[in-house]
Amino acid sequence: MSPLLETKAVWQRFGGLVANSDVSIAVEPGEIVGLIGPNGAGKSTLFNLIAGVRPPTQGSIIFNGEDVTRLPAAERCRRGIARTFQVVKSFETMSVIDNVIVGALVRTTVMREARRKAHEVLEFCGLDARAEVPASDLIPSEKRRLEVARALATEPKLLLLDEVLTGLTAKEAEKGVELVRRVRASGVTVLMVEHVMEIVMPLVDRAIVLDLGKVLVEGKPADIVRDPKVISAYLGD
Ligand code: ADP
Ligand code: MG
Repeated sequence: MSPLLETKAVWQRFGGLVANSDVSIAVEPGEIVGLIGPNGAGKSTLFNLIAGVRPPTQGSIIFNGEDVTRLPAAERCRRGIARTFQVVKSFETMSVIDNVIVGALVRTTVMREARRKAHEVLEFCGLDARAEVPASDLIPSEKRRLEVARALATEPKLLLLDEVLTGLTAKEAEKGVELVRRVRASGVTVLMVEHVMEIVMPLVDRAIVLDLGKVLVEGKPADIVRDPKVISAYLGD
């Protein structure tokens, strides 16, 4: 089986700052992979490179057997890469369902079809009862679900989640974990960034730890949490 996603020796420089340094990772179809590491490790930068916010300074990104390094974000979305964003301000005045329809319109131009898809995804995410309220009415945990719903409406092969479980109550985080499990069960591969290890470790099949822009270590969650290199990166010595 060939990987769904590969980054090959990817570098991202911002002036003199090296945010990603020779990062090579692979995600297999059907996996839930956690991308973890302390603040400033370069996790969001790597997500942006995968999603197509900007091309890397150096290196390449292969998705589903195709080199997507130079493709813009919208093209990558069409090929099956979706990500969560912080809810954009201009979307706040739109209803929950309309926010999700924006995602569904990636696959269809027929409004009725997009609306049907949006309702299906909202139900999957436990938000259908909130379909008609403005997005600004949602509580923070619901907004995270809305971001997931909008991404799922694009019918991705790979879903990139950037800290969607951070800052939730224990009960909300548990519901979030359950949602991610159902996403994978529906056939979508998941790469998720979290910096709180306790939240992600029980959920992921494999974890990749970034530190100072580099891959520090990768492996099974049980081995990662015991790795002295990981412990010292998190303790900051
Ligand atoms: P993480 O998500 O792991 O907390 P980031 O990828 O956001 O880390 O940031 C990694 C480093 O790159 C940080 O030092 C950050 O300040 C820097 N950085 C991120 N984006 C930019 C940018 N657009 N311009 C300049 N520096 C950036
Ligand atoms: Mg980040």
